Amino acid sequence: MTLQRTLSIIKPDAVKKNVIGQILSRFEGAGLRIVATKMMTLSRQEAGEFYAVHQSRPFFGELVDYMTTGPVVVSVLEGADAINLNRKLMGATDPKKAEAGTIRADFADSISANAVHGSDGPETAKTEVAFFFPNLK
Ligand code: GDP
Repeated sequence: MTLQRTLSIIKPDAVKKNVIGQILSRFEGAGLRIVATKMMTLSRQEAGEFYAVHQSRPFFGELVDYMTTGPVVVSVLEGADAINLNRKLMGATDPKKAEAGTIRADFADSISANAVHGSDGPETAKTEVAFFFPNLK
């Protein structure tokens, strides 16, 4: 199993619910190491650039609006099979469809306010980590 890094964002709804610690604990409990983390409020420009792949999707405007409504916690998680492991911990995009015990099933409200983001593949992970942590060794 290869050591990987992946980007995680705790979205504004989960930060407002005061569950940052609970979510980070799930990553650590599953064997992932937090190698970088910061709290920040995304500008519209940053949110738009980060989600540029979704630019043509009907929900793009809503997504950018939502991601700029309050602070987020952006982290780099490292571990064996980190990308898939994080996706498993997160659960399905729509919290109504997320498996019991996943972060989205436990903490998310809706498909927009769905508690967390996680990179979906090795290339995306590289780009997303570099987007927020350009100097990370
Ligand atoms: P993820 O990888 O599970 O986060 O899902 P996607 O990459 O497909 O979508 C990125 C984000 O866009 C999701 O986490 C949602 O917040 C949002 N999103 C995806 N699909 C929809 C949708 O149909 N409606 C709305 N409002 N937001 C969506």
